[in-house]
Amino acid sequence: MKARRIPVDTAHTSTVTFPSGIFSLERDETFPYERFAYNLLDVGVEALHEKNLPESLTIDFAQIPSNASPWTINSSILIQFGTTGLPTAFRFHTPELVPSILYQLVVTVISDFLDEKGFDKFRRRPGILEETLQRFVHGADAGIRAYRERGIGHAIRASYNHLGLTMSQLKECGLDYDLIAKQIAYHEIAHAYVEQMTSQLRPTQSERRSFELVADLVATQWMYQKMIANTPDTSEYRRVAGLNSYAETILANTVRTLRAQQGLLIVMALAGAQRSQGSVTLAGGKTHPSGVQRFLLQHTHLYTLIRSNFSTVLSQNQFDQVDADWDERVEVLIRSGLLPVRDIQTALDETECETAGLAAELVEKRNIKELKGILPLLRSIRNYKKQEQ
Ligand SMILES: [Zn+2]
Repeated sequence: MKARRIPVDTAHTSTVTFPSGIFSLERDETFPYERFAYNLLDVGVEALHEKNLPESLTIDFAQIPSNASPWTINSSILIQFGTTGLPTAFRFHTPELVPSILYQLVVTVISDFLDEKGFDKFRRRPGILEETLQRFVHGADAGIRAYRERGIGHAIRASYNHLGLTMSQLKECGLDYDLIAKQIAYHEIAHAYVEQMTSQLRPTQSERRSFELVADLVATQWMYQKMIANTPDTSEYRRVAGLNSYAETILANTVRTLRAQQGLLIVMALAGAQRSQGSVTLAGGKTHPSGVQRFLLQHTHLYTLIRSNFSTVLSQNQFDQVDADWDERVEVLIRSGLLPVRDIQTALDETECETAGLAAELVEKRNIKELKGILPLLRSIRNYKKQEQ
């Protein structure tokens, strides 16, 4: 058995606000909301406790943000201060259709892309990735039309009907959705955990941009811990997983988690397309660094953690399998245009390199001990540009 984690006792409470209408739907239609909330709380309570912050999270799936549509893929975490000036609670928001839209995206596109067999069609013809994305977009559009006419319950139902989603997909794709939701949830909680909003040192605009990288990397660390490092070395676990050795279970969980990062890249590309009204983009902006840089840094951090902690568990041959698996999926992402070549080129321009350099400074200044190991890499990105000039 895996050792249970230490309980946290706290007088604080947490709240989840769901649009009530989703509970008039079926299990696979409410699941994306419940699971998203669970992932936020699962990592959030422990993380806030560790930093002596109030273990009080309000998760709000029912608000329509003033600056976005109910289907705009983004999320944020805000802090509330009491009359004494001390933090009292954290509020997580995402536009109300987003958990459902992410689930629809996973079922129609991402799950096959991450699956061993399902990936075959993309391997044979990378262009299919864009076609399946189109199918997803039509399904989401059906939901948006119904949303405008009748509301969220009918919106979700209309998309599911359009895409032909049934309960069986929940079994097949539930885990993949969970991995996507975890990465987004962990990233938001990480913003609170690194004390971006609670420290006396108020971040500047460029520091806020660098904090996105910092939050990504802390979230990656947590993914590594949960998905790979915590893999039980027991016959019971191996029996359930249908695998024969500890090395095989580590390999399977490694591949799954690295692929999940590629799944998140598809989400980011799509969010970019929403922002730019059509064309897929991973370019950085005023508030966020380049998506390509975020993707590559998260990958490198996760891969390095696995390489340095499991070099005696996994054989060279198994590491070669991990590398080949990553490479062939990235190739499809590039060939299908989801990882645009122009964005790969600009991922290392001056601003982006400086963002990584500033992230290194933040890790040091704010003493984020989990990320000390990645300091040399962050610094080398800043120096890379300097050397080139
Ligand atoms: Zn963020």
